[in-house]
Amino acid sequence: MINGKSVTAIITAAGKGSRMGTSLPKQFLSMGGKTILARAIEPFEEAEFVDRILVVTNRDFVALCEKICEDYSKVERVLVGGKERQDSVKNALDIIEDGYALIHDGARPYVSEDIIKAVLTDAAETGASVAAVPVKDTIRQAEDAGSKTLPRETLYSVQTPQGFEVGLIKEAFAKAYAEGFYGTDDAGLVDRMGHPVAISQGSYGNIKITTKEDLPVEMRIGHGYDVHRLVEGRELILCGVNIPFEKGLLGHSDADVAIHALMDSLLGAAGMRDIGNLFPDNDDSYKGISSVLLLEEVTKRLKEQGWSLNNADVTIMAQRPKLAPHIDIMRENMAKALGASVDVINVKATTTEKLGFVGREEGIAAEAVCILSRG
Ligand code: MG
Repeated sequence: MINGKSVTAIITAAGKGSRMGTSLPKQFLSMGGKTILARAIEPFEEAEFVDRILVVTNRDFVALCEKICEDYSKVERVLVGGKERQDSVKNALDIIEDGYALIHDGARPYVSEDIIKAVLTDAAETGASVAAVPVKDTIRQAEDAGSKTLPRETLYSVQTPQGFEVGLIKEAFAKAYAEGFYGTDDAGLVDRMGHPVAISQGSYGNIKITTKEDLPVEMRIGHGYDVHRLVEGRELILCGVNIPFEKGLLGHSDADVAIHALMDSLLGAAGMRDIGNLFPDNDDSYKGISSVLLLEEVTKRLKEQGWSLNNADVTIMAQRPKLAPHIDIMRENMAKALGASVDVINVKATTTEKLGFVGREEGIAAEAVCILSRG
């Protein structure tokens, strides 16, 4: 409420996001574990002066949108949008009787309560206001012959939210439709009424996510741990290297404990469970298989999900044999399977000072950590 009148936020999420090159429109992409749309809605949900929220989306995404909006008690309805953004806003305005409307783009996830409040306060005073920031670049206007520099101190980059007295914006829309006019934003329609539009303090951070470059890089850490028993009559394979030793590791595959730990760290970072799940040990196709091949498969699956490896660090715990002479080739083997450069794949070996099962040479253990990134 403001001035005793109700405040409705209209969040537009009908964009197809074709410039993102993803199958899902940008507003439904995840950003740090939450969708961009959820982040755009949240500050309106939290702002005390906002009474209700209407979300407008494409017919195909109503169900997805409703799912996202379940977390927000002020979202009254998810409406089906129209052909253009302006048509979508109109569908929402049609069900608002009075008070104030704050129209916001569902692909602007960095909006803050301060910005929303500034726009609403100015709209309540003047009837119409937009969030905007002074342009940083010098802007030139093309003319018939050449171009000219515009006075920068009068120029602003327009953002959302844009706030309006409901009667005024409905009238502006009615006029635009009567004249077949489509504007690039809602305030442009109010301009055509000859009604002034105030400028409220936006922020340079309040960007619209348009291309992939606008999304922050997503980083994930992963950890893996594995142990295999040392037995006679098996070869000792560590990081794809066959190491001369009187015993080897027991397992369904080649029992390469180091690569197993590494794969679990990779799958863990990606939230893709673990190798036991991916390569079940009751599946005969994995019997005796080289773990390097399994690592190649994991790499392929990570790539399908858009992940790339920043770095990995593997620690092998073995009392014997000495692993130092093999470290270089171990790193090379894993880097090759991962399609990564050797300098981001580290391998360390340590004894456990003859303590525990490793110290008694009953088994070898390995741990791995990695960081994946996406975006
Ligand atoms: Mg294992």
